[in-house]
Amino acid sequence: MFDVAQWNEIQHRIDLLAPARDVTVVAVSKGQPVAAMRAAVAAGVTALGESYVQEALDKRSQLMDLAVEWHFVGRIQSNKTTALAQNFDWVHGVMDERQAQRLSRAREAAGEEPLQICLQVNVSGEPGKAGIAPELLEELAAYVTTLPGLRLRGLMALPEVRRGEGVVSRSRFAAVRQWKEGLERHQGVKLDTLSMGMSGDYELALEEGATLLRLGTALFGSREK
Ligand SMILES: *Cc1c(COP(=O)(O)O)cnc(C)c1O
Repeated sequence: MFDVAQWNEIQHRIDLLAPARDVTVVAVSKGQPVAAMRAAVAAGVTALGESYVQEALDKRSQLMDLAVEWHFVGRIQSNKTTALAQNFDWVHGVMDERQAQRLSRAREAAGEEPLQICLQVNVSGEPGKAGIAPELLEELAAYVTTLPGLRLRGLMALPEVRRGEGVVSRSRFAAVRQWKEGLERHQGVKLDTLSMGMSGDYELALEEGATLLRLGTALFGSREK
């Protein structure tokens, strides 16, 4: 169930650690029942995050009465781009031109305002980990800004949390912030979003500049499998 006391505590931590910044909490509700999602919105949550398209569509159809933003935070499969473009306000994990182009076309076809997107960066530098290599970021960002169906809001990162390696996490979050600043400088664009920080590391992420936290278990407890 949604934990209102935790929600209030997290708001308090945000005020302490990022007093001058607008920070959005996306309540990541994958594996949670619609009743918990209703409770979250009743407590003040304004954005819900999902990772699996079919689960998200099933639940969204039961929650159409809620005034809430829908964020897709999962892996993008190319056969699901139309469903994403039609049913979400934000997509966080865009990693290549093909995905971007498909999302843009589908969004335009749906006749909706541009889809808000973040580019996912591979922070660990390990091949095989999700996200674009930092050195390819500039080119992808330049391409995305030409697409009429998308609005580039910023960068998303999902650094691995390793026990006892707070320093590593901190330096990775800091790197993401620097890449965002580099993009803004080189391309003359304003990016307002750093989507980083999950239940286990959101305080570090806040200290390093996060503007959007994606929190699941901290708010809802453990997920159903
Ligand atoms: C599941 C998920 C989250 C939330 O994770 P918690 O550790 O439960 O806070 C955040 N971001 C992404 C991309 C996820 O898949």
